[in-house]
Amino acid sequence: MRLGDDIDDHCSSCQRTTDHSIVSMMGEEVLRTRCRTCNSEHKYRKNKGRRKEMTAQEAFDKVLATMPGMQSEPAKPGRKKK
Ligand SMILES: [Zn+2]
Repeated sequence: MRLGDDIDDHCSSCQRTTDHSIVSMMGEEVLRTRCRTCNSEHKYRKNKGRRKEMTAQEAFDKVLATMPGMQSEPAKPGRKKK
């Protein structure tokens, strides 16, 4: 990361995650960014909350987490069916 680099961040003006340019840094920390969509400059929010897109692995984990049957527990035998 260095000054002028592209970075994803949440823009409060656009109310979504947009492309930003880094305008201020302290060491390795990004301090301020400028939204490329509306050109407003603001403190870097570290893109908290949502991301622009999930990686395939994250999407996969999220699907798994919503499936109770995927906890690798074997089906219990002897369950009676009517
Ligand atoms: Zn913006």
